[in-house]
Parts: sequence; structure tokens; C-alpha cells
Amino acid sequence: MDSDRKANILLVDDRPEKLLALEAVLGSLGQNLVRARSGKEALRHLLRDQFAVILLDVSMPGMDGFETASLIRRRPQTEHTPIIFITSINDTENHIAQGYSLGAVDYMLTPVVPDVLKAKVAVFVDLFKKNEQIREQSDRLREMEEDHHRRQLADAVDRLDAETKRNRFFSLAVDMLAIAGFDGYFKQVNPTWHKTLGYPDEELKARPLIDFVHKDDRAGTTREFKRLTLGSTTEYFENRYHCSDGSFRWLGWTAAPFPAEGLVYIFARDITHQKQAEAQIQHLNHELKQRVTDLLEVNKELEAFNYSISHDLRGPLRSMQGFASALVEECQEQLGEVGREYALRIVTSGRYMDTLLRDLLAYSRLTAAELTLAPVDLNSLLLDVIEQLQNEITEKRATVEVEPSLDDVIGHPSTLRHVFGNLIGNALKFTDSATLPRIRISTEAGVDSVRVWVEDNGIGIAPEHQGRIFGLFERLHTGPGYSGTGVGLAIVRKGAERLGGRVGVESKVGKGSRFWVELPAAPRK
Ligand code: ADP
Repeated sequence: MDSDRKANILLVDDRPEKLLALEAVLGSLGQNLVRARSGKEALRHLLRDQFAVILLDVSMPGMDGFETASLIRRRPQTEHTPIIFITSINDTENHIAQGYSLGAVDYMLTPVVPDVLKAKVAVFVDLFKKNEQIREQSDRLREMEEDHHRRQLADAVDRLDAETKRNRFFSLAVDMLAIAGFDGYFKQVNPTWHKTLGYPDEELKARPLIDFVHKDDRAGTTREFKRLTLGSTTEYFENRYHCSDGSFRWLGWTAAPFPAEGLVYIFARDITHQKQAEAQIQHLNHELKQRVTDLLEVNKELEAFNYSISHDLRGPLRSMQGFASALVEECQEQLGEVGREYALRIVTSGRYMDTLLRDLLAYSRLTAAELTLAPVDLNSLLLDVIEQLQNEITEKRATVEVEPSLDDVIGHPSTLRHVFGNLIGNALKFTDSATLPRIRISTEAGVDSVRVWVEDNGIGIAPEHQGRIFGLFERLHTGPGYSGTGVGLAIVRKGAERLGGRVGVESKVGKGSRFWVELPAAPRK
């Protein structure tokens, strides 16, 4: 209550002139003066309003002041309202005793001394106002407390809600979620831990978490956990955990520390299958590597064997060829027609075998030889090759066109001579008899390579065979005029590979072929 607000003062007396007199005295206090002409009326007022003080006339007809006072005191709301009894001097003795027994706070005799009455009432008014103030303040304080309390409650409800939601994620997640303390114990684990490792939650929380880690991974895990407690996040870490059945599982996890709470939030996943697959792949890779090494070894041995066989067979073959030719030339008569025919066949087969051995030797040499690579001027190299093939070119009435200023490549001249000798030789060979061979050689520059094209207008190659013709002894055409050993294109491929290059072909049956060899480009001059 602010001090400006007026306090109620109840004046109870059956005589109007007395009331008037009281009003005259108390009017200057500036408070609300309420009159009651009887005890009953006074009680009615007290039911409606609060009063700072009651001035109660003792002797009233009907309900006198004492009865009124005792009724006032019975109501809890008014039991402490100060009452000043007003009585005449005659009744003093009696009245004073009775009045105090009814809880009067003061007593005044008529005629009242105005200043004394005023001063006393003013004290009660002041007291009342102070009390009101205190009550209002405490009401406000209580309201504020209640408000604060309400807000705290709302916060708690929100938190609980969030917690419940989080817990739902926690319990439904298929991944392993956990909260551990900096003390190294799990504080909370979701059900996936139990499903994965087999321990009940209580056991997981009861032992230091390092206990569950495979002994070989403990040092690393301790280090990582230490880092977490110092505030750094674990991006990814893998370790093995023991299961309750004695086996172990690989877990891959990330974790973040919350130093203020002394907690680490862990998100883990069972990666055992992935680890097993990795191990299997590693094992297979290792096996594969081993097999490749073995095969390379075998290949080397075979090539060495091939070389020595080809080499060693040529001697006896030459002597067989020599004697067969001698038979044909010098013993014609003794042999007769049939014998001569047989001897000629030996000579032809011997020649074929000699070519085969020579090709195989070239192939083997290509495999085994140490090659020193250097820039090669293709124009002059190809002139050489064409020169070597001049007899066949003339015989076939072929034209060989070499594009001027071919790009230089990095290579090895004698290997390149083998490569292009075979390609141009094939281009001359694989034409039908009605067509005059036309061969064109050109280059196409790549980023750091050069593609050399050898194009012909020959019989062409069906797409389904284009892949295999570079294999050893692969031959598509074997009719008359297409003699060969099936080694030529194998030499082309092996040669290109030894020079760090590749080979290929584009062709259509009856429309000619375009063979290409891609080689490292020589630095431009
Ligand atoms: P060879 O020439 O001794 O038969 P190659 O290894 O040089 O053996 O060639 C393999 C096969 O590829 C040949 O038998 C032939 O069928 C086919 N071939 C090679 N070059 C050409 C070409 N320019 N046009 C058509 N077919 C070809």
C-alpha cells in the first residue's frame, strides 16, 4: 500500500453527536472515516473492508462494545485489528479489565482529549499502512518467486522433453552410443552395446572401459582417451573390444569431449565384418602378388627356354635343310619323282621352320634385351624399313606414302624397325590379289605421346578378332599368299610395351585396316 492511499478507521457509537465529535477530531488525519451506529453495523463494515483501527464505544444499547469486540476477535481476518475502547469515567475500573481481556490495545476515557486521540489513531494508521506495505511487498515477492518457480518448472519440463527425445534416439539407434566420464567409466550406453558385446549395461558401467578393450589396443586407446580429456575430438579411431563370450569385435568410433561436464560423447560402429573383408582382400592381394611374381618368373624361364631352343634348333635345322637341298640337287636320279617331291617338302618345311625360329628369336630378344631409350627420327627410320621391304613392294606394285615431317618419338631404333617392319609387311601381305596395296603412314600428336598410324586398303579384320591378333601364334588368314608364323603382331605389341607404349587397330572387313602404335613423344625441337 502506498502511503497516499487512505486507511479506513471505523468509528462505532450509537450517538450521532459523539460520532461527529470523533470525526471532527480525526478528520485532519486525512483518512477514510467510516461510521457505525451499532455493533452489528460495525461487524457488517468489517466483513466488507479492512480497518486500521476501530474506535469502539463501550456502552451501546443492544450489543455493547464488549460483545462487538468479542465477535470481532473471533473472525480470523479481524482478530488483530486494533480496538480502542471509549468509555466514560464512571465505568473505568470494570471496563478497563474487561476491555483488555478482549484484546483492546488501548482505552480512552470520555471526554477524549483530541490531540491524544489523534496521536494514538495516527500511530495505528501508520502501523496499518506499514503492515499493508510489508504484506504487499511480500505478496509481490511471492509472485516473483512463483513466477521464477514456474519458469524453472517450464525449463525442467523442456529439458525432460529433450532428454526423453534424446533417449529415444539413444535407445533406438543401431549404432553404439555412449557417454563416458573423464574418470574412464561408461555413464550411459545404449542397448546396441549389449547387443554387440553381450554384457549387461550394469557391467559395462561398473568396470573401467579400458577393461573391455583388447589388450593389444589398450595403450593406443588410453592415449586417445587422454587426448579427449584434454579437449581434442577423436575424428576416427579403431580398436577391438572383448565380448562376453570371449570373442572380440572391431569398433570404429568418433568421440567429442565436454570438459565442463567432464563427459565424453562416443559414437561407435561395429566394423568387424568390414575388417574381416579388408583382411581377406589383403590376403587375396598378397596371394595375387605372389602369383604374379611366380608367373613372371615362369614367363622369364619360358622366354629363356624359348630363346635357347630357337637358337639351338637353328643349327641342326640348317644342316637338315642343307642335306635336303643337296638331295634335291645332286641325287635326283636315285630319288625318282616321288623321292624328289618328298625332299622338296623337307626343304619347304625347313624354310618355314627357320622363319619361325627367327621370329621367335626376335620376340625373345625383345623381351630380354636391355633397351636404352632416346629420341628417334621416325622419317629416316621408316625410310630404312621401307628400303628393306623394297622387293615385296615392287613385286606387289604397292605404294607406300609416308606423311612428311612425322613427329619424333622416344624409342629404340632396332625395336621400332621390328615393329614397323611387321606392320608394313602385313599391310603388303593382307590384300586380295585384285587390289594394288596402298599404304599410308602418319602421326598424330597427343599431350605427351605420339600415335603412329599404318593404314592399308587390304582385306580388313572382323571386329571380334581384333583383340586377339596381337597374341602369339594368332592367325586369321592362312590361305595362299598369306604365309606367316603368327609372331609378327606379338612382336609389335611386345616392342611397343617395352618402349612404354600401346598398340591397337581399327578395321572393317574389306575396307582396309588402320593399325596404331602410341609412343612417348620426344621433346619438341
Ligand atoms: P602373320 O603375319 O605371321 O600371320 P601376325 O602376328 O603378323 O602373323 O598377324 C596375325 C594375323 O593378323 C594375321 O595372320 C592376319 O590374319 C591378321 N592381320 C595382321 N595384319 C593384318 C592386316 N594389315 N590386314 C588384315 N589382317 C591382318
